[in-house]
Amino acid sequence: MTASSASREELVRAARAVAARQLSHGTTGNVSLRAGDSIVITPTRCELSSVQPDELAVLDLAGKPRTDAVPSKEAFLHTAVYRSRPQARAIVHTHSLHATAVSCLADLAPDDALPPLTAYYAMRVEALPVVDYCAPGDQRLADLAGKVAATNAAMLLRNHGPVVAADTPAAAVDVAEEIEQTARLFLLLRGQDMAPLSQDERRRLFTRSNDRERNSQHG
Ligand SMILES: [Zn+2]
Repeated sequence: MTASSASREELVRAARAVAARQLSHGTTGNVSLRAGDSIVITPTRCELSSVQPDELAVLDLAGKPRTDAVPSKEAFLHTAVYRSRPQARAIVHTHSLHATAVSCLADLAPDDALPPLTAYYAMRVEALPVVDYCAPGDQRLADLAGKVAATNAAMLLRNHGPVVAADTPAAAVDVAEEIEQTARLFLLLRGQDMAPLSQDERRRLFTRSNDRERNSQHG
């Protein structure tokens, strides 16, 4: 068996959540999860709102297909992140409108694209480093994203969109949504004086929130 039906159902729920929260349009966006040494991912040219469990593709960590279903063309991005981030169990990648708009700004801070405008963002996103532009299908993106993923759970691909790794597909969707909302806030505030949280407060909130999550998983 290449992926359990529970894994497939979990991934389909996350794919539908991405669509329901308007984080993807058309056939953009892809979602994956790690099940043992397999990666289950949404197929190419699929609408996340209607994808079915038996349509999902399964790959190994090197990107070699384990089923007949054709994976998303961006599967190489997912496998690169999983290879360099062993703790990652799920990945969401979207072209969500506001996050993608931010990814096209000229003056992005390379190590952190968005300021910590709210506590909710600070609790979920430790930093949002920017990955240099690569054309669709350019395998160099795997090296660049893999390098960033070793130390960061979230990143913003330049002129493209966000990538989020997390412990569960549902958590990855939540973080992708938080990035989208904060990108929207950031664009609303652009040109005005912003008062983001201090970096100390951001670190405190992130640590507290993640300690709590770890305890609730083990408690
Ligand atoms: Zn993409």
